Amino acid sequence: MYKCVKCKKIVPKLEEKIRCPYCGYRIFVKLRPEVVKRVQAR
Ligand SMILES: [Zn+2]
Repeated sequence: MYKCVKCKKIVPKLEEKIRCPYCGYRIFVKLRPEVVKRVQAR
């Protein structure tokens, strides 16, 4: 997941030469998906 630094909208998929579909900006911040992985240790 990426977040546009200009309009601060979240773009789920971002390929190489893509721009923000909302404002056309090309700088993004990587976001970590908020998934908590629980591993049971046995
Ligand atoms: Zn944008």
